[in-house]
Amino acid sequence: MHALDWIHRELEALDARQLRRPLRTRSGPQAAAVAVGGRTLLNFASNDYLALASDPRVIEAACRAAHAEGLGAGASPLITGRGEAAAHLEARLAQFEGCQAALVFPSGYAANVGSITALAGEGDCIYSDALNHASIIDGCRLSRAKVQVYPHGDCSRLAELLAQGRGYRRRLIVTDGLFSMDGDLAPLAELGRLAAEYDAMLLVDEAHATGVLGAGGRGAAELLQAEAAVHVRVGTLSKALGAAGGFVCGPAHLIEWLRHAARPYMFSTALPAPVCAAAQTALELIEHEPHRRQTLLAHADHLRRELAAQGWNTGPSSSQIIPILLGSAQRAIDASCQLAEQGLLVPAIRPPTVPQDSSRLRISLSFAHTTEMLARLLDACRSLAARGI
Ligand SMILES: *Cc1c(COP(=O)(O)O)cnc(C)c1O
Repeated sequence: MHALDWIHRELEALDARQLRRPLRTRSGPQAAAVAVGGRTLLNFASNDYLALASDPRVIEAACRAAHAEGLGAGASPLITGRGEAAAHLEARLAQFEGCQAALVFPSGYAANVGSITALAGEGDCIYSDALNHASIIDGCRLSRAKVQVYPHGDCSRLAELLAQGRGYRRRLIVTDGLFSMDGDLAPLAELGRLAAEYDAMLLVDEAHATGVLGAGGRGAAELLQAEAAVHVRVGTLSKALGAAGGFVCGPAHLIEWLRHAARPYMFSTALPAPVCAAAQTALELIEHEPHRRQTLLAHADHLRRELAAQGWNTGPSSSQIIPILLGSAQRAIDASCQLAEQGLLVPAIRPPTVPQDSSRLRISLSFAHTTEMLARLLDACRSLAARGI
């Protein structure tokens, strides 16, 4: 029993620093309003950006696939786990992204870890943005490559590191396309130029941008006209697509290599058919219903302008992810609690998810939010300011 006693002390240390996290249980589907802890709150905490997670057409597709192929895939993809729903989804993803091929992974996390470790190893160097997602960081660590972290979005520092770092076998630049805690974009056109100049590979994680950014919904690289410079596109099926799982798109030989070298792909059971079918239907809705992303981004522009007019610092956000930067963990928690009292779910984000002293509220907008809901949020933020947060 005593062997685990140290955990009590670690948890108490988290309490002392206001870093103990609540675990809320939601009842019912993701929607503009969600029931948590017996209360119904307006939901500004979901990555279901296009309100597809509970779309009846998506649910129907999942049900049909469950009847046709069952639920669990039963084996890893290379054994007998890859069914027709997964094969169709991969073909459809490649077509949507304008790539030769695609591979689906058990999660976006697994897609990053699997692709990074398959592309770089001992004797190689990875250049990683300081604010990259944890799954990219973990992929870098597992790869055993040398890792150079460059300051967030700082292309001149990256150029210096690339110029100094000759003599590696292979080099890989990795970045989020749309950063998940600040809602800002990576300088993808410039990163593409640096990759070409220094003969490096460029991997972009479009987890928050797929379905949302760009005229076709392909993400930050499309929006910034940098798609041709991106060698490896990583995405998730769990955010705007409203399902679960991750994917990688690119040239056929890249995907063929990942099948042989991406261990999270090789050694996890394949995605269930209902999940694949749901994601494919969501992808088709993203193609045919561009008004979802257009309305979402127009609402986000409006909200950012109004919050700035109230005096809040929304940082560099230019997307549907809008932080309100507050500094200390305690201030972020107080603000989040006060908003909850007013019926709004806006999470406080603290270290280690964000750097020290950059705790914040993080607003995630969804197509499901109406203009009245945005007005309620703005009213509540105004009253936060009045109460001295
Ligand atoms: C959410 C997220 C992931 C992980 O995706 P999952 O499908 O949830 O595992 C990867 N990268 C970024 C940038 C993310 O925000």
